[in-house]
Formats: sequence, C-alpha cells, structure tokens
Amino acid sequence: MKTWKKRTKAVHAGIRRSQYNEVSEAIYLTQGFVYDTAEDAEARFIQAGEDEFIYARYGNPTIAMFEDRIAALEGAEAGFATASGMAAVNGALTSMLRAGDHVVSARALFGSCLYILEEVLTRYGVEVTFVDGTDLAAWEQAIRPDTKAVFFESISNPTLEVIDITAVSKLAHAVGATVIVDNVFATPVFSDAIAQGADVVVYSATKHIDGQGRALGGVILGTREFIRGTVEPYMKHTGGSMSPFTAWMMLKGLETIELRVRAQADTAQKLASALEADGALTNVIYPGLASHPQNALTQAQMGAGGTVLSVDAGTQEAAFKLLNKLEIVTISNNLGDAKSIATHPATTTHQRLPDDTKAMLGITPGLVRLSVGLEDPDDLLADLRAAIGQIG
Ligand SMILES: *Cc1c(COP(=O)(O)O)cnc(C)c1O
Repeated sequence: MKTWKKRTKAVHAGIRRSQYNEVSEAIYLTQGFVYDTAEDAEARFIQAGEDEFIYARYGNPTIAMFEDRIAALEGAEAGFATASGMAAVNGALTSMLRAGDHVVSARALFGSCLYILEEVLTRYGVEVTFVDGTDLAAWEQAIRPDTKAVFFESISNPTLEVIDITAVSKLAHAVGATVIVDNVFATPVFSDAIAQGADVVVYSATKHIDGQGRALGGVILGTREFIRGTVEPYMKHTGGSMSPFTAWMMLKGLETIELRVRAQADTAQKLASALEADGALTNVIYPGLASHPQNALTQAQMGAGGTVLSVDAGTQEAAFKLLNKLEIVTISNNLGDAKSIATHPATTTHQRLPDDTKAMLGITPGLVRLSVGLEDPDDLLADLRAAIGQIG
C-alpha cells in the first residue's frame, strides 16, 4: 500500500471487512463491544490490540477505517478522528501543552483557532507569541530554546497567505519544537506537509473531506507515538470523538476527494485568472496567480493554488451588492463544498476581531471569500461577472 498513489489510497486504504465481506464500508453504529469472558474484558482494558475496541469514544471499526485512510493519504503513521475541525485543533494543542509552555503561532488564523491560542491556552498559563507567518525572520526571532510548539494554517483563512512549511519546520526543529499545521485550505490532495517537515497535521473534515456539506468532523494526524501516546488519552477522556456515522460519510467523501478537489482547483485557477484580467475588482487574491506574493512557494509546496480565492470589491457596500446579485454562488460560510459559496469575512467569520486587527490581517471591508464548487466553470464565471457588473 505504501507505493500506492493518493487516488488509490483514497478508495482502498484502511478497509476492515466483517465476516460478510461487504464491498462498501460497514457503519458500526454501536457505542460499545462485548467480551466473551471477564478475563477478556480485563485484558482489553489493560492493552487493546489494533482491531480490538472498547467504547466508541475511544474508537470503533468505522472510525478506525476513516483514521487509517486519511493517515495513509497524508503519509502519517496514525490519526485520531474528532467531532469537528475545532476539536482537532484544540486536541492537538491542548493534549501536548502544559502551563509554562511557549507557543509561536502565525497571526492570520481562522477566528476559532485564534480564540484557542489567544483566549484558551493563555488562560491555562501557556505563553503565545504571534508572528506574521510569511516572515521567516519573525519566526526565527520568536522561536526560543524553550518553545514547545509552533502553529499555523498552511494557507491562511481568508487572506490566503501561504506559509513555508519546510522553512518554519527547520527553525522549530532546531529547538525541538513540535510543528502543528492546520492544513484545511491545502487539502489532503495537495498536501505533502509531513514529508515537508510538519509533525502534526490537522484537518476540518467538514470542508473538502466530506465536500458535500453534510457533517462536522476533524482529524489529527502524526506519528504513532504522538497520536496513541499524547492525543488519544486526552481525546478519549475529554469526549471530542467522531461519530461512526460521520466516519462513514467521511470515508465516502475521501473516495472522491482527488477528483473533486482537482476539478475545484482547476476552476478556481480559471476564475481567478479571468477576474484578474477583467480588472473590474480592486484585488484578486489566489495563490495560483503569478501576482500572488507566495506563488512560487505555492507551486513548490502544493503544485496548485487550492479551491478558494478572495476578491476585494473595494467597499463593504460593493461586496454586499456582489453577494446579493449572485445567482449560482450561494452566501454561506462553509468551504470545500460541491456548491460554490461566497462569504463576507469582515461581517461574519471574522466579525469578532477589532477593526485594527482586521486591517492588519488584510480583512478589508470589500473582501469576499469564494469557495469554488463543482459547477461548470463557464456558468460560475458568467454569474460572477454579472454580479460584479452590478456593483457600479
Ligand atoms: C473550518 C475551519 C476550521 C474548523 O473546522 P470545523 O469543522 O468547522 O470545526 C479550522 N481551521 C480552518 C482553517 C478552517 O477553515
């Protein structure tokens, strides 16, 4: 299996068949498992084997299939599935940190990630230093001999800054710090984060892994030692586990993720190029465009620009007009979905941030984040052009 390409792993990795030899993965909707004898129960609580289960909060065959499949896809030794992407971010950080530890984090983060780093960790005595994630000198200056972990989104939400995983990992590893990457925008399809130096990769499975807007989920990926020794004890006792039904949906999502995400990224590249050439918007931000400051890094790190672009309509009024005139693209705050979705970050996902922080992060009043779906690219471009034409 190690030599299989991602598309093959996405379909076959992790399968556990029951005595009925079903084709499609079975959903084990059971919270617990029975033991033949009291001695068996005792033995399993002392040390459960790879395919021995105790309680669904700890693990379950359907959940294990999902964990093994996404771990194989990412090139990680092991994974732990979580109830949401935020349970994964929180679990990765909180399971390994204690009072007095120091963390360096990129400043441009999804609002809930920022809440964990800024509000939750600091409440328990963890010191957090924020840096401009694209500035390697800033990382070098902030990382100290006692830094325990670094955290960043490999592509930031919603301003699409791309962070150099290899370079930041080198700086972190020089002091023995663990590199934790929120890799949602890179997707498992374009990610090679672990080979590039990341120790821990976190996904919100809600996004491209499901890809059809049905369920919340997440996963923490890393070495077997980190997942089994650090993450699992924390997660199984604090309760942020994934449900078996969700794991089954995510398994089915993974089967098509290569095809979906590549098609979505191709369309995103087309739309970004066309809208930039039209020149009707203040700014078009897409890591796959030559005009993007980290375009060369994007090509080297991911080989594609991803499925999300951001455009600046100039003012909030213009952005709202654009959003309200769209007919195919829906207004919502998910991303990675089969349906194209537009979001106004300044008034929704990043509303909580003070104005000066928004300005520093580039979350301008006119910024619209566009998650590109599976619709026909020409229809999407026509929809966007028609809406942009109405801005005035
Ligand atoms: C959506 C998202 C999350 C949170 O995932 P949920 O499944 O909604 O909890 C975390 N990080 C990034 C970058 C995201 O886009």
